[in-house]
Amino acid sequence: AAPSPEEVLRRAEELKIEFVSLQFTDIMGIVKNVQIPIDVFPHVIEQGQWFDGSSIEGFARIAESDMYLMPDLSTFSPIPWDPQTARVICWVYNPNGELFPGDPRVVLLRQLERAAKLGLVYNTGPELEFFLFRKENGKIMPLPHDQGSYFDLTTDLAAEVRKDMIRALQAFGIKVEAGHHEVAIGQHEIDFEYSDALTTADNAITFKYTLKAIAQQHDLHATFMPKPIAGINGSGMHTHQSLASLETGANLFVDVEDPYGLSDLAKHFIAGQLAHARGMCAVLAPLVNSYKRLVPGYEAPVYISWARQNRSALIRVPAVRHGRLQATRIELRCPDPSANPYLAYAVMLAAGLDGIERKLPLPEPVEENVYHFTDEDLKRRNIQTLPATLGEAMAELEKDEVIREALGEHVFERLLEAQKRDWDAFRQYVTQWELDRYLEIY
Ligand code: GLN
Ligand code: MG
Ligand code: MG
Ligand code: MG
Repeated sequence: AAPSPEEVLRRAEELKIEFVSLQFTDIMGIVKNVQIPIDVFPHVIEQGQWFDGSSIEGFARIAESDMYLMPDLSTFSPIPWDPQTARVICWVYNPNGELFPGDPRVVLLRQLERAAKLGLVYNTGPELEFFLFRKENGKIMPLPHDQGSYFDLTTDLAAEVRKDMIRALQAFGIKVEAGHHEVAIGQHEIDFEYSDALTTADNAITFKYTLKAIAQQHDLHATFMPKPIAGINGSGMHTHQSLASLETGANLFVDVEDPYGLSDLAKHFIAGQLAHARGMCAVLAPLVNSYKRLVPGYEAPVYISWARQNRSALIRVPAVRHGRLQATRIELRCPDPSANPYLAYAVMLAAGLDGIERKLPLPEPVEENVYHFTDEDLKRRNIQTLPATLGEAMAELEKDEVIREALGEHVFERLLEAQKRDWDAFRQYVTQWELDRYLEIY
């Protein structure tokens, strides 16, 4: 439950807070904020903070630009590296007093309300991967900070950096479970505890700017760009998901009798996400660059399949330690950390609920390494692929009524608008690869 205004104001006084950073995200998941001095905060808690929505990516047009922020007091927290400033995540409102349907947090809230009507809580736990790059004369360059690989110790130069990151995340109230070097040079992962999807999305947003701030203190750059360097692994945001009972909190994905340990609810949920995988890709992998990650050979998914252990599958059902059935979950592997987590979880939930509502049957698992499949194998098994480009993903999103409805007309249109701008610019750009390949021969 959210603390009362009096409780928050008392805490602010105890902590000697001088400023409050009122935060929200645009449709691309970029954090926006307006700073207010603490003496104005009581007024803002009551009346909201007005701002011009037309200057925010994907928000309002000039004519309908007045909006206001209402602090969600449950997110009040001092900023660990700037302790006299507190951040509060806000809800965005229209002047008529209704929640603004273009606020990504509102989009997620609507889907969670839909699940709640069915007696369900949607839990998510992301694994955010990132690169640490060195700067050259203060300029951000794709220069990996070390030469380490997965779980390395002696070649991992970032152990202290990650510890500082973990301390800062904990100071924000995020329960960190583990941090380690990832497969690629300069690449890392820090995992935090799963929670209801709204809390997790708030945490994922906080996570990204916290890591950037701490990296900067070490004169490094932390990036969540999905594929900064060709030829080595990109960064994913695998997301573990389960549905719990709203009433009892019990995990509803579990069935001890089932050979996979999965309930029918879980199976329909997986089937729904497989059915909408192509349609939701533009939300889960939203950048031109995202599609350079989703290629064979780098532990990122390409084919639409599910499996128990196989890490080339789109959805994996992780093994659960004996007696820990409550941990039963499914892992969706196509999201990358550039995705707006609010929109990502909203469409993932909508896809799963569609599978449940239509009782979609779960296809057979594919336990072999799909990367090694020939086109023949894929055809014989009726295995489809994820979109190969942002352009293809946008076309798929346009066709998917369920995903479109989950985003709402406003976000659906503005997201495609923003993505089309990028896609068109990219299509027209002549790359170094083309010059190297064609200039001399043709
Ligand atoms: N980096 C891989 C990806 O892009 C995942 C690697 C891993 O966590 N095993 O999804
Ligand atoms: Mg991991
Ligand atoms: Mg990983
Ligand atoms: Mg994983």
